[in-house]
Amino acid sequence: MRVLGIESSCDETGVAIYDGDRGLLAHQLYSQVKMHAEFGGVVPELASRDHIRKLLPLTEAALKEAGLTRKDIDGVAYTAGPGLIGALMVGAAAARSMAMGLGVPAVGVHHMEGHLLAPMLEDEPPAYPFVALLVSGGHTLLVDVAAPGSYVILGESLDDAAGEAFDKTAKMMGLPYPGGPMLSRIAEKGDPDRFSFPRPMVDRPGMDFSFSGLKTAVRLEIARHAKDEKVDETDMADIASGFQQAVVETLAIKCRRALRATGYRRLVIAGGVSANRHLRQRLDEMAKQEKSRLYYPRSEFCTDNGAMIAYAGWLRLSHGQTADLALQVRPRWPLNELEALA
Ligand code: ATP
Ligand code: MG
Ligand code: FE
Repeated sequence: MRVLGIESSCDETGVAIYDGDRGLLAHQLYSQVKMHAEFGGVVPELASRDHIRKLLPLTEAALKEAGLTRKDIDGVAYTAGPGLIGALMVGAAAARSMAMGLGVPAVGVHHMEGHLLAPMLEDEPPAYPFVALLVSGGHTLLVDVAAPGSYVILGESLDDAAGEAFDKTAKMMGLPYPGGPMLSRIAEKGDPDRFSFPRPMVDRPGMDFSFSGLKTAVRLEIARHAKDEKVDETDMADIASGFQQAVVETLAIKCRRALRATGYRRLVIAGGVSANRHLRQRLDEMAKQEKSRLYYPRSEFCTDNGAMIAYAGWLRLSHGQTADLALQVRPRWPLNELEALA
């Protein structure tokens, strides 16, 4: 079965084609990040309009890349939530109409299930069961994945998501939006041990997260080192490095707890922050200590993309799940409300 996948939940338009026998055949991506940077964040109305502009050309490009025509498509998957309602509507309307025109089934995919399954597109995908840490711009979730589609939330952020903490801290440091990746580059040059930032909630049992206190601690440190409202480069790199270390350490502690609580030997990380080099290294080290193995997507599939939606859609469609003709999107949609597939 060949599935066309469409991602449009936020500020990336992604279109990809996944073949159940041959794997990923094509993926096309357009990021609106430059357009929104001017405003310091995503402007929902502009995002919707840009998805309209890009969706069909990217679909044509994906078909061309795969050497296919529309008639070769057996199903269409689209991100149905969570995300920006207007942006989701654009993808849903396009996908649903394409499916109807082609006479093939369509299915609405949960964006975080897409992220969670992105490592399945790699050469050595994880087997089930596994623990998944989803760290993105809007979510920090620790998930017990017993089988395909079976998701039990072990922990989540009580305030900022991990990616959001990176972006907000970057903004305080005067970096342009979205600052997460740039902050981590600056952090590489810094001393992670000069400042000791709090590791939120690690003293308490459980697997929830909180990052807003850490953000405040960084703000105070920036203020302490600012001269004429400027912080010199070394201080800034050390602050960035200390911040990154605190986030990574907190995530590592909770992931270790999740591996021990479930008894699983596989840890999957996905979502934008899973591209972070320091996080990958630290979790790899921890997983080895726990006689477990770490899995993650290639960097370009850590952030939003169509490939993960095509794969998740293929999984659901090949289990017979379809969406009816109603254009239903869910801007808020808890991951554990999904139907298990096994
Ligand atoms: P969600 O998936 O929760 O709806 P989103 O789709 O906006 O949110 P993603 O595209 O998965 O999130 O990830 C974007 C986030 O990842 C941003 O917050 C960005 O700063 C962060 N990010 C990307 N690369 C890195 C990195 N190397 N280090 C830290 N953070 C990073
Ligand atoms: Mg994005
Ligand atoms: Fe995302």
